[in-house]
Amino acid sequence: MQWIVDVVGEGFGQAIEVEDILYDHHSPFQHVQVATSPRYGRMLILDDAVQTTERDEHIYHEMLVHLPMAAHPDPKRVLIIGGGDGGTLEEVLKHPVDAVTMVEIDREVIEVSRTFLPSIAGRAFDDPRTRLLITDGVAFVQHTDERFDVILVDSTDPTGPGLALFSAEFYRACATALTPRTGVLAVQSGSPLYQGDVLNLVARHLSAVFPGIAPYWAAIPSYPGTLWSFTIALRHVPPRPARPLAIPGLRYYSEVTDAAARLLPPLP
Ligand code: SAM
Repeated sequence: MQWIVDVVGEGFGQAIEVEDILYDHHSPFQHVQVATSPRYGRMLILDDAVQTTERDEHIYHEMLVHLPMAAHPDPKRVLIIGGGDGGTLEEVLKHPVDAVTMVEIDREVIEVSRTFLPSIAGRAFDDPRTRLLITDGVAFVQHTDERFDVILVDSTDPTGPGLALFSAEFYRACATALTPRTGVLAVQSGSPLYQGDVLNLVARHLSAVFPGIAPYWAAIPSYPGTLWSFTIALRHVPPRPARPLAIPGLRYYSEVTDAAARLLPPLP
């Protein structure tokens, strides 16, 4: 047995015991690993940070997807930036959408996830509504003339290729690529306990472009500190009440967790 240590923020990290490293390679963009853990099953690890695990991936993916989708009256065209493991794509395709464009910078993450973590994406990559583009997400939104109802940024932490996905320029380009009035953007915004600087930076950059922004959270055991944040940005204020979703089989997201997630506990 060995341990992987996932450091987040200053002076804090989480150690997870792993049985086996099934894949270990440096892609042109990042260090890509797949490991097996007695507690979490198979895990995707990028640059020593746990990205997703078979045991609790549904929590992160359901909250990144369904809360913003429920904040839009009728989302038909969705853009995902990042999300190489395919979990976000799979959740979006549970909605009656017409088209989903996924823009991932690293083809190796997709191939490794399809090979070693097939349960996370299921058949999402083969769905006829899926359009997969292997390119930089920042460049894509800055040059596209398409318009999307919902944009979901399923990025790594603000390091390496993911750093630019936390920039004011990127959020401005996302605002332009959203349909006017009803467009919704949601991003993963880090650990509210150990990456408060990231959460504040995201809030500062988003509020310069969007009239309505709000952080929300979920409890994700395989992430350091467990408490993880997302931030939703709306082109319309006040926010509409969450639209009830008729999606069977959700394990974490519901109207109750939707409401509870918007109440961040007072943090030390
Ligand atoms: N749930 C994870 C988290 O919160 O840490 C994120 C998972 S997902 C695997 C992150 C993906 O973002 C990776 O596949 C990475 O290659 C991709 N990514 C990073 N920077 C990118 C960029 N500039 N454009 C597109 N994809 C990017």
